[in-house]
Amino acid sequence: MDAEEFRKHAHTMVDWMADYIDRVEDYPVRAQTAPGDIAGRLPSEAPENGEAMDEIFADFKSIVVPGITHWQHPSFFAYFPANSSPPSILAEMLTASLGAQCMLWQTSPAATEMETLMMEWLRRMTGLPEGLHGVIQDSASGAILCALLTAREKATGWTSNAEGMAASVSVVAYTSEQAHSATEKGAKIAGYGKANVRLIETDENFAMRPEALRAAIEADRADGRIPTCVVASMGTTGVGAVDPLRPIGEICRDHDVFLHVDAAWGGSALILPEERGMADGVELADSLVFNPHKWLMTNFDCSAHYVKDPDALIRTLSILPEFLKSREQGQIIDYRDWSVPLGRRFRALKLWFVIRSHGVEGLRKILRRHIALAREAEGWIAETADFEIVAARSLALFNFRYRPDSVDDEAELDRLNETLLHRLNDDGSTYFTQNRVRGVYAIRWAIGQTNTERRHVEAAWRIIQDTARDL
Ligand SMILES: *Cc1c(COP(=O)(O)O)cnc(C)c1O
Repeated sequence: MDAEEFRKHAHTMVDWMADYIDRVEDYPVRAQTAPGDIAGRLPSEAPENGEAMDEIFADFKSIVVPGITHWQHPSFFAYFPANSSPPSILAEMLTASLGAQCMLWQTSPAATEMETLMMEWLRRMTGLPEGLHGVIQDSASGAILCALLTAREKATGWTSNAEGMAASVSVVAYTSEQAHSATEKGAKIAGYGKANVRLIETDENFAMRPEALRAAIEADRADGRIPTCVVASMGTTGVGAVDPLRPIGEICRDHDVFLHVDAAWGGSALILPEERGMADGVELADSLVFNPHKWLMTNFDCSAHYVKDPDALIRTLSILPEFLKSREQGQIIDYRDWSVPLGRRFRALKLWFVIRSHGVEGLRKILRRHIALAREAEGWIAETADFEIVAARSLALFNFRYRPDSVDDEAELDRLNETLLHRLNDDGSTYFTQNRVRGVYAIRWAIGQTNTERRHVEAAWRIIQDTARDL
């Protein structure tokens, strides 16, 4: 394809993209396809000879789009948002055109230098402490793995990378029973073993109990294990629980345990000064991650990972074969030493576009709208006799269930709400995820798509009530 042909197809596709953004509400939120539907419409063999782009694009529209769940639909209330916005999409187009691999400063100085600056912009926007150094990771899971690896290296006197884990006694990680599975996954990969992940008990607000953490650390130490890493949450996935960072940080400091804060979703809300109470004590953390690719209008993937001691991270992850040596070493940052993969996309560009185009105040307005809508929806549900709030709102997330007077058997209520959820999602006009809150089946309502307005939330609440009362 030459440049002229590219130009022609690109214009056609940009027109499609603009229409898509404009009309995304016309699609069902969750793909309405059965397993194998899409695969059955694709040829099993790769074509021997090249095909026309018009045909490829036509197939994209007729085969792929029906199999897409529309995360940018303003009635998407499932999981957490993976929101985007037009400035971010434009930057991704440019990033794809440049096609740069930004593993070293030398392999694209602009990408490295802009990444350092964007992480500093974000640090100031979120009020995170000075002295934190940022790097963009592919995911919060990747950042948690980096934290577990750095903690393991430090706790074993920098020997586990060189000698493997067999030589050392067990390293132990701690997180709350409400925390995201990324800690368990990271601990398995990093050689802690699932048996050495302690899920610490939580209080009535689903937050980690610091006394329980201290007791677990002391018990492990008494048994000859090495308490190594605590992963505290600022906004858990299920209910949005916030662990108390100050007492947890003090325990970590007293016991020389690495503290990582998983703020994957909640961290974006730190751009709102009124939400910064949840960061009290964050200066005691060794690292923190939050995902602009969740709730900051920036396309997946973009995770902001902050570390207090970059040398410890680099010492854990760096490798230096001959072909990666460059003469600028020592004067510049080579971000390949800061993450698990070697290759890196130019992710800072979309942040630069997003922050400049929306402005910090523009971003705050969107988050404030989402939080206000969640507060309102929670209020409607709390006031409705045959519904109840199962876990109170945290930022823009809460859990609820249908609870008609006629049913008081818990198992029956679980079944009823499961049926309700499936009907809602099959209908295609909204999309929610299920949750278990202390054993109770709940419907989880997360608000955060860039364009979600009051009318979408109102319409969803009407559909929920109608569907429930029809069961
Ligand atoms: C989404 C989420 C993660 C995982 O994020 P990825 O970037 O997909 O790895 C981890 N922790 C919490 C609390 C999350 O909400």
